[in-house]
Amino acid sequence: MTLQERDKNAVWHPFTQLKIAPLPIAIVKGEGAYFYDEQGRRYIDAIASWWVNVHGHCHPYLTKKISEQLHILEHTLFSGFTHEPAVLLAERLLDRLPDNQSKIFYSDNGSTAVEVALKMAFQFWSNQSADKTKVIAFENGYHGDTFGGMSAGARNAFNLPFAKLLFDVIHIPVPVKGKEQQTLDALQTALKRDDIASFIFEPLVQGAGGMVMYSAEMLDELIEQCRVAKVITIADEVMTGFGRTGKFFASDYLTHKPDIICMSKGLTGGVMPMGATSCSQFIYDAFWSDDKMKTFFHGHSYTANPTACSAALASMDLFDKPEAFENIIRIEKKHNLFLQKIKSHKALIEVRQLGTIIALEIKTNDYTHYLNSLAENISEFFISKGIIIRPLGNVLYILPPYCISNKDLEYIYDAVEEFLSGLQ
Ligand SMILES: *Cc1c(COP(=O)(O)O)cnc(C)c1O
Repeated sequence: MTLQERDKNAVWHPFTQLKIAPLPIAIVKGEGAYFYDEQGRRYIDAIASWWVNVHGHCHPYLTKKISEQLHILEHTLFSGFTHEPAVLLAERLLDRLPDNQSKIFYSDNGSTAVEVALKMAFQFWSNQSADKTKVIAFENGYHGDTFGGMSAGARNAFNLPFAKLLFDVIHIPVPVKGKEQQTLDALQTALKRDDIASFIFEPLVQGAGGMVMYSAEMLDELIEQCRVAKVITIADEVMTGFGRTGKFFASDYLTHKPDIICMSKGLTGGVMPMGATSCSQFIYDAFWSDDKMKTFFHGHSYTANPTACSAALASMDLFDKPEAFENIIRIEKKHNLFLQKIKSHKALIEVRQLGTIIALEIKTNDYTHYLNSLAENISEFFISKGIIIRPLGNVLYILPPYCISNKDLEYIYDAVEEFLSGLQ
């Protein structure tokens, strides 16, 4: 039996209608920006393996540091116990995070980093006997696939079977160009209520919603209004963190900093599953008490897994070298040149770019987003070119590992142009 046949017999894949989907490509090796399949075919990982990879696959330094950790301490419980990698990583994350962040809470993926943030905000209020249980979030957002994350996110085909089970969230428009006033008005109306616990948002870029972008000035304004209204602000930096937007965090573009920040994807360099939620001192203080009922009762078996921490620490070492941001800026410039070249193309509605992310919104008759057939055609076309690109509906985007070469970027841009010219 081939690997693909054995897979079909035993495995259930995410986001996939297995009855009609083509068989998955079996990847046997990763190296830098490349994957290799069973037949030895090479693919450029143009979307950083679902936005997690930053320094490239099987980076020798990450591999070495993780393997060293595995010989010392692979895992330990984290309630009543601690270890050097978790403490050091918290210190180093706090060094990089906005100044108002003062504690790190570990979990094990992006959805749990968001659940932790939402629960922290809800309990912040309940610990003070305040009845605040409503959340404000942007329309079109994505915050993960657990129930809290789904509730905060856009209501769409992906969570329709669970629609009745999700908690109530006030969704306000995304402040894209031209909609700023609509957003401000909607926020103002929402903030008149006295039961708002928190406002959660993907800062500057809505990833899964189609790489939708909005300005730092607008977000600054919204955060400031929440602060005045005493509503906790939560930046879901799961996709935007770790250099993706051209700065270490998207929050670094802001003057007003969020109270809570969620991290995952790039945290371990894209090697180990891990989540982290940071918070301001005033949040932590609301749980600091002689009353055991004010404890934050949340945790996961693999909270602060030392091996994952060692991967994150090694990734932070690489970020401390000048090459990391040199690469990020190099990609940013290349993307921008391509944007200038392609933006007036007849097949396109709009091209958006921030940092290492470039997104092309393609004209189509079918705007059902993820589930439309254009997306399948795009994936197939690029696979035939040896490029891994999985569009978000009619939004084709490139979000590469930072080690990708200029030559590979140009090869991808050429393939994109070839694809677009085939649409007419
Ligand atoms: C991917 C993502 C999540 C969920 O992270 P998982 O690790 O896939 O659970 C949450 N928020 C944002 C903004 C994301 O992009």
